[in-house]
Amino acid sequence: MVTDKAGGQTIREALDGLISRLEKTSDVPGLDAQVLLARLLDRPRSWVLAHPEAPLTGNRFAALEALVARREGGEPLPYILGTWEFFGLEFEVTPDVLIPRPETELLVEQAINWLRKLGPGRRELRVLDVGTGSGCIAISLAVNVPGISITATDISPAALKVALCNAEKMDVSGCITFLEADLFPNPLISDPFTLIVANPPYIPTKTLHKIPVYGREPTLALNGGSDGLALIRRILAKAPNRLDSGGLLLMEIEASEGPAVYSLASDAFTKARIHLHKDLAGHDRLLEVQV
Ligand code: GLN
Repeated sequence: MVTDKAGGQTIREALDGLISRLEKTSDVPGLDAQVLLARLLDRPRSWVLAHPEAPLTGNRFAALEALVARREGGEPLPYILGTWEFFGLEFEVTPDVLIPRPETELLVEQAINWLRKLGPGRRELRVLDVGTGSGCIAISLAVNVPGISITATDISPAALKVALCNAEKMDVSGCITFLEADLFPNPLISDPFTLIVANPPYIPTKTLHKIPVYGREPTLALNGGSDGLALIRRILAKAPNRLDSGGLLLMEIEASEGPAVYSLASDAFTKARIHLHKDLAGHDRLLEVQV
């Protein structure tokens, strides 16, 4: 227990105690302990690291105990904190949305570079984010590329609520239209897009059932069907008709799906330039199709 004894502890001692408790649940118990303590003390994590000898007062330890118990029960840290950082921005996250992953920053970087190269004011830049979840992709683009107009869809009304709240918090709700839709918006109410981005569910069902995120994060956002490609196939079937000429599709994929996705994209887009980008770990992570 960290509760009463904790009054006489230093930060270092409290961290050591938390780490040994979190070792069973977490791959990164040290990081989790630092982040939880920082939240409790309302200080940055860097402050916690820089003050190992600082004494802790006992009064907020009931709150810490509650947070640690949730983490010990397997709840992901971002849901306990209620916020998570992505692309340098702080997003609200709830169990209704997938927790933003660092590997998705690759998609956002490529999208920003491409949009900036097109040049401001050249033409209206219309972006579609398919399956927006927390809104992390759409909002990162809106914050970093002024003047674009984004449509962000999701099949989950609960996820769209979180995304809208994030867009308002980041002051970009004026340039993003959130729509409840199963992948693409109705073609009768939308013009073709300059850029389509997507981080669809791509984990094969059987694999998903074996990994720790199963039952913790929304299955709807993770389950890619029996071979992981069900949603990717549907997106690739529709995307050619929804992209403007000269447009771009960027879609995140699972590391082992590169060759299969490349071949699906080649069937869907007969005259496009198709490229697979690797993530920092050297795995196929992003499909790029330039039409
Ligand atoms: N990258 C996520 C994971 O590995 C999966 C996200 C997705 O299915 N789009 O858990």
